[in-house]
Amino acid sequence: MKDMAYHKPASLAEALELKQSLGEGAIFLAGGTDVMVQARQRKIAPQALISLRGIAELRGARLEGDTLLLGAGTTLSQILADPLIALHLPVLTDAARVMGSTQMRNVATVGGNVMSAAPSGDTLCPLLCLEAVCHLASAEGLRLVPMQEMFLGPRRTAAQPGEVLTHLAIPLPAAGGHASAGAFLKLSRRAALDLALINLAAQLWLNADGGRIEKARVAAGVVGPTPLRLPEAEEALTGAPPTAATLERATQSLGGTCSIRDSHRCAAWYREEMLRVLLMRAGALALQRLGVSLEVEA
Ligand SMILES: Cc1cc2nc3c(=O)[nH]c(=O)nc-3n(C[C@H](O)[C@H](O)[C@H](O)COP(=O)(O)OP(=O)(O)OC[C@H]3O[C@@H](n4cnc5c(N)ncnc54)[C@H](O)[C@@H]3O)c2cc1C
Repeated sequence: MKDMAYHKPASLAEALELKQSLGEGAIFLAGGTDVMVQARQRKIAPQALISLRGIAELRGARLEGDTLLLGAGTTLSQILADPLIALHLPVLTDAARVMGSTQMRNVATVGGNVMSAAPSGDTLCPLLCLEAVCHLASAEGLRLVPMQEMFLGPRRTAAQPGEVLTHLAIPLPAAGGHASAGAFLKLSRRAALDLALINLAAQLWLNADGGRIEKARVAAGVVGPTPLRLPEAEEALTGAPPTAATLERATQSLGGTCSIRDSHRCAAWYREEMLRVLLMRAGALALQRLGVSLEVEA
């Protein structure tokens, strides 16, 4: 690995200024769990690193009305320890819990996961289901990009080179007294320290008497070049009663949006089967968190 200059600005303004003056050869660094691995493998060769770790405003979660503002520099361990996130966004806690190892979770950030844009990135499906909005800051000002528009291809985002992801703005699913819960599940070859063969998140909202699913968001990873919302599953769930038969019908609707391929890690047929299993189980877990107990065979 070649020598690199290291900068540690104390404010966002300073970080943006540095990026402007250092240009293309400088990249932002958060936890470094992707950047340093890629640099060591010579996939990238930055001349300078601009660490975002000294910028306090990028860390932590706070409520602003009915929106949870999650700092991009919040580590996965901080997400796991945050009572606001545990209460309102268990689908995100589920994802943070199964990422990497304790050492890695202590430094890796949610913003780094989003900006890495790996098809297997574990926080991405939860953030898609939660309809998070990315706050991107640059010398020109602030730009808001919905998660749905953030991923352009494997490891490609809609962010411009000089932009810093500062926050993820997440509308509280239960705002206005709605009953809502989500769940995330990941299938990998090892229980820890392994990327997903496939992952899936589901967030469900029940109507006032709990007799039907009013709104559903489902997203899966490693089913295409980017993590994807699965509108066919969302449609099958919406308006239906919260039952095992409804989940089963939703699993039968799957396929249209995905472009699941064979890879050296897993055969396409197996991913397709597991996509259905994960939807069944994540749907059942989300409903269980809403007080609806289901017998699910898958
Ligand atoms: C051993 C190991 C296990 C792993 N396990 C998992 C796993 O289970 N699941 C998973 O999804 N990933 C996993 N990863 C990948 C990685 O840890 C995650 O993607 C992590 O969230 C990256 O965050 P980071 O803070 O380390 O990002 P960095 O490595 O610091 O940055 C990643 C990219 O994002 C950019 N960036 C970071 N923050 C910002 C910002 N605020 N604004 C603009 N650009 C920014 C950087 O320039 C870089 O391009 C693993 C990695 C390792 C090494």
